[in-house]
Amino acid sequence: MRAWPPVVVSGVHSGVNPSPGLGVARSVRAAWPGAAIEALDYSTESTGAHADLFDAVHIMPRWEHVSLEAHARVVAGLLAARSAVLIPGLDLEAEVLAGARPRPAGLLAPPAEAFEHVRKPAVAAARGLGLAVPPSVVVASPADAEPFVAAHGWRVWVKGGRYEALPVFGLADLVEAMARIRRTWGDRRTLVQAHVEGPEESIAFAALGGDLLGACHMTKTQTTAEGKTWGGRIGELSGADRERLAGFVARTAWSGGGEIEMVREAGTGERHLVDINPRFPAWIHGATIAGINLPAALVAAATGRPWRPSVRPGPAEFVRVVQEIPARFPVGVPESSDGPVPGVPSVGKGHPSGMPSLARRLAAPRPAEAGDPGPVRDPLGEGLGDLLDDAGPTPVRIFLEERLQRRLRLAADVAERAGRAAGVPMRVAYSVKTNPDDRVLKLAREHGLLAECISLPEAQRCVDSGFGSADLVLNGPGKWWHREALAGGLGERRFFAVFADSLYDLDVTRTLLADGWLGTGTLGLRLAPVGFRSRFGVAADLPATYAGAVRRVRDLAGEHRFGVHFHLAPSRIGPDAWLREFKAVAALAAGVSGAAGAGVRVLDLGGGWSPRQLDDGTAGAVLTAAARHAAAAFPALEQLLIEPGKSVVEPAMVVVSSVLDVRRSREETAVVVDASIAELADGTTQLAPVLWRARSAGGWRELPRGGDAVWGRLCMEHDRPRVGLRVPPGLAPGDRLAFLGAGAYDASMSYRFGA
Ligand SMILES: *Cc1c(COP(=O)(O)O)cnc(C)c1O
Repeated sequence: MRAWPPVVVSGVHSGVNPSPGLGVARSVRAAWPGAAIEALDYSTESTGAHADLFDAVHIMPRWEHVSLEAHARVVAGLLAARSAVLIPGLDLEAEVLAGARPRPAGLLAPPAEAFEHVRKPAVAAARGLGLAVPPSVVVASPADAEPFVAAHGWRVWVKGGRYEALPVFGLADLVEAMARIRRTWGDRRTLVQAHVEGPEESIAFAALGGDLLGACHMTKTQTTAEGKTWGGRIGELSGADRERLAGFVARTAWSGGGEIEMVREAGTGERHLVDINPRFPAWIHGATIAGINLPAALVAAATGRPWRPSVRPGPAEFVRVVQEIPARFPVGVPESSDGPVPGVPSVGKGHPSGMPSLARRLAAPRPAEAGDPGPVRDPLGEGLGDLLDDAGPTPVRIFLEERLQRRLRLAADVAERAGRAAGVPMRVAYSVKTNPDDRVLKLAREHGLLAECISLPEAQRCVDSGFGSADLVLNGPGKWWHREALAGGLGERRFFAVFADSLYDLDVTRTLLADGWLGTGTLGLRLAPVGFRSRFGVAADLPATYAGAVRRVRDLAGEHRFGVHFHLAPSRIGPDAWLREFKAVAALAAGVSGAAGAGVRVLDLGGGWSPRQLDDGTAGAVLTAAARHAAAAFPALEQLLIEPGKSVVEPAMVVVSSVLDVRRSREETAVVVDASIAELADGTTQLAPVLWRARSAGGWRELPRGGDAVWGRLCMEHDRPRVGLRVPPGLAPGDRLAFLGAGAYDASMSYRFGA
C-alpha cells in the first residue's frame, strides 16, 4: 500500500484567539483516520502542539533568531525530506514562505502577489467580490486621524497592517490604539476605518492554482469579548457569491485556504468587507462537522490522495468548548519570542507564534529622518512669534488676550445665530472649571457672558471678578460643598439658574431656597444621557426615577422657571451622536414636563465642543439644529443656554519650555523638557501643535506628527505631556518648545510640583 506523505500544519495555538492549525488537523484526520499529521510552530506555548492528534511536532527557532531566508530553507528542507505538504495557519509566515526563492515545494499558500491583493483595505478585491468597503484613512498620528474619526461619530477601528483591529469610542481610545498597534506590530502608519453596525459573517474557501475547490458561509452565533467566533452556523454560498469567489480565486491564482470576513450592515443589509485572510479560519472544523471538509478537499487536490466527500450534510451549527489535555513537553517559563508586550496581557491575548516580532521585522524600517521642518514665519498668524521669543525664564504659560477675545465673540455669535434660527434667545455661560484664570473671567464678563460654576467657591471667584450672582449658573453634584459661602459674600445670592444633578440634590436645593439661603430665576434638573454612560444627571429613563422627577417637578410649578440641563461632550462622541442623544433626552424631558404640568422654559445644552468644532462651523450647525428641535418640542421655551469651555479658552494659552535632553532610541525619540504634567496636565488627549525654535537660529517651526513623545521634568513614569510628534534631527538641548492649546484643562488641572 502506498504511504501517503504527511500533512504539516502550522499555527496550532488554541487560546481565546486561536490559530486554525488544530481545526485543520482534525479535518484532515476526519477524512483519513490513518493520515500522518505533523505540527509546526514557534513556541511550546502554542497549546495545540500538545494535542495527541499530531504524529510529530516541530518547534522552530524564534523569529528574531533566524534570517528569514534561512527559515524558508529549513521549512523547505523539512517538507522535501518527507514529500510533505504544508497548510500554513499564520498569515505572516505564509507570506514569508510564499515570497521565498525558491518557493518551498508542498507549500499550500497563495502566490506572493496575492498577498498584495488582500492587503487592507483591499478595495479592489472587495469590488470583485461584490462587497462594500467601509471608508478609511491611513495616518501617521492621532491628530491626522481626528477629523475622519470625528466625522464618523468616534466609532471607528484602528487596524494593524496585518493583524489586530481595536475598537475606538473616543479620543483617548484612538491615541492608545494607535500606540498599541505601533508598539506590537511596528506599523508606522495605521489604517483607521469607520465602524459598520451589524452581524458578522465569513466565507471560508479552498483553492489550488486558481481553481476553487470548495467554500462555505458562516454566521457567528457566539463571540468572545474580542469578537472572535465561539459558535457559528454553516451554510452554502449563493450562486452569485460562488461565481464571484471563483473569479477572485482565478484572478489571484489562489492556492491554499482563505477566509473573507464581512459585516452585514443593520438596516440596509449591505455587506462590507472586514478582512481577507490568506489561510483557513480557526473555526474551519465547524464546516467539516457540517459536511464541508475544505482542508481535505485541499489535500486531496494537492496530493491526489483519494477522498470521498460526505454527501449527507452534518449539523449546521457548531460551538466551541475548552478542554484540558496532557502537556506533551514542559511549557515552563515563557519561550515566546514576544515576551510580555507592554499593555498586552500574556494570557489570552498573547501571540505564542511570535507574529508581533515577525511583523516588526517586516515593518518598513523607520523612515530616514527627513530634514528639519522649515520655519513658520508667523506661527500663530497674529504676530505672536515675538511674544514667544520674549517668553523669559521657562516653563511659562503665556496668555493670548486678543485670541481669547476673538473666540469669546465667536461663541457669542454662534449662540446668537442659533437662537435667532430657532426663535428663542440663546446665551453663553462660560464654564469656569475649564480655566478659572481671573483674566479669562474678566474678559468673559466684559463680553456679556454668564458664568457656569460647579461650586460656591467658584461662584465667589466670579463675584470677586465682577460678575453679579444673577449672572451665574450653578451645576454639578458638588454645588453645596462649602455652603458657608452662602452666609457672606456672593452678593445678592440670587442666581440665574440652578440645576440639580440628582433628585436628592433637588430636595436639598429646594430646602435651601425655602430657608432663604439663596434665590434663583430658574430651577431645573440635569438629565442623564440615555445611550451613553455618564455619572451625572437624573436617569429619567428608569421608571421609578421618572416618577420621582415628575412628582418633584409638579411641586415646583409656579415658584421658578423650570429648566432642563443636558451636557455630553461632542468632542468625545461626535456631533451626530450628540444630536441623537440630545433628542432622546429632550423626549424624556418633554415626558416629565408634560406629566408634571410644568413647561420647560429654560434649556441648557452644555459644552464640550472642541476648538476645531467651534472653528469649522460644526458646533454652530449642530446647536442650531438642537435649538430648532427644542423650540418645537417645548412650547413654553423662553431661554436657551450653552456652556462652552475648552472650545473658547484652549487656544488662548501657550506653555513655553526649554529642552533639557533628547533621548533617541530605536523605538522612539523623546524630548525631555523643563515643563511637565504640572503645567500640561491634560496632555495625552491633546492634539494642538507644538512649535520649536532652535537655540542657534531664530524662527519657530511646527513639529511634524509621528511616533515620538515629549517627556516632562518630573520623576514620574507618566509625565509624558505630549505624544504623537516627530522629533527632527536638529532638535537639541537648550532649544525651546511652545505648546499651543494649553489654555483649557492643561491650565485648570495644573499644580505646583517640583517647582
Ligand atoms: C465641564 C463642563 C462644561 C464645559 O466643558 P468643556 O469641555 O470645557 O467645553 C460645560 N458644562 C458642564 C456641565 C460641564 O461639566
